[in-house]
Amino acid sequence: MSDAQSRIRQFLTTHAPPTPCLVVDVDAIVARLREFQGEFPDARLCYAVKANPEPAVIRALAAHGAGFDVASSAEIDLCIAQGAAPTSLSYGNTIKKPADIAHAHARGVREFITDSEGDVDNLAEFAPGAQVCVRLLVDGPPSVTPFGRKFGCEPDVAMDLLRRAAGLGLDTAGLSFHVGSQQLDLSAWDVCIATAAKLFTELATEGIPLRRLNIGGGFGLAYSGSAPSLTDYAEAVQRSLQSHFPGQPPEVVMEPGRALVADAGLIRTEVILVARKSATDRHRWVYLDVGRYNGLAETENEYIAYRFETVAEHGGADGPVILAGPTCDGDDVLYQHTPYRLPLDLQAGEQLDILGSGAYTASYSSVAFNGIPPLRTYCLVGGELTDDA
Ligand SMILES: *Cc1c(COP(=O)(O)O)cnc(C)c1O
Repeated sequence: MSDAQSRIRQFLTTHAPPTPCLVVDVDAIVARLREFQGEFPDARLCYAVKANPEPAVIRALAAHGAGFDVASSAEIDLCIAQGAAPTSLSYGNTIKKPADIAHAHARGVREFITDSEGDVDNLAEFAPGAQVCVRLLVDGPPSVTPFGRKFGCEPDVAMDLLRRAAGLGLDTAGLSFHVGSQQLDLSAWDVCIATAAKLFTELATEGIPLRRLNIGGGFGLAYSGSAPSLTDYAEAVQRSLQSHFPGQPPEVVMEPGRALVADAGLIRTEVILVARKSATDRHRWVYLDVGRYNGLAETENEYIAYRFETVAEHGGADGPVILAGPTCDGDDVLYQHTPYRLPLDLQAGEQLDILGSGAYTASYSSVAFNGIPPLRTYCLVGGELTDDA
């Protein structure tokens, strides 16, 4: 068991908060930030706030030198309130209203990501002179939770956008991409870095020099399977940068979300019922008090297969289960294809821990579907609850 897990379980034992709840060990996030800073010493790190926007998390990351990838006015205000310098924020969402841009500009945000003409024009008008990176559409190996074609643009459009931005007096900083979240294929970064390098060269010949490459997030974690280590990711990225930018390396920005915070969080949940649909069914249905709508959104398509542990010790045999959430929605089934096993003597009222659940859980939960409140988060610093709670 990691130090973070033992601190979290100590807290849960002492305070026995109502379930379901997410407990986040902020010290483990700071330790992970240090790992990132060690593995990517030349990169500027902007934490993707949407993964876990708890004020205590933002505060600790800001205090230890992280910047932030923000996607809305509310995320900007949150980061600044928690001590982040406005110039450490990158407005990474390509989908923004003029009012969002004006708000960001007024708060001192100077870096924006874009992928369309309309947005470039809005940036020129409402954030004059801002630094812009154009996001490339990624055409590499699929990730576990892919973005599809929603973000970015093809290289020809990216070049046009940078020309347009230059003409409008914006600072054409560079290019960005995101290889898809929970990307387990190390070659994904190389595909994008190669494309970016070509565009750097072509635009330089037109008198539009680029200097920044934002390599996004996507770094994966093991959950119930396996994943490359952070060192593996760093080596892959470094190799690609060296091979595609043999002269002057670009200024690198990275935006991890999941890989910075997921392993620092644990959800404790209660088994509401254990049931069988027929006398001959091998599978038991195990209904939990946490489901698709109050924290486990990433079980959609069974993309993320979390690791579960019973809180009580069970000595006996286990058997196959289907895991489902508490709401009256047929989609609120967590795992019916991914094989999960739980003890045969598992009882209603028992508790389970969901490991590695600090990213994309509480921030995704609905406000009151079926009257169920959003997932409550408790943040620990030095093993103690922070004041925000
Ligand atoms: C969500 C997001 C990230 C973080 O991605 P992870 O896979 O969690 O590391 C980074 N950048 C942008 C633009 C994002 O939308």
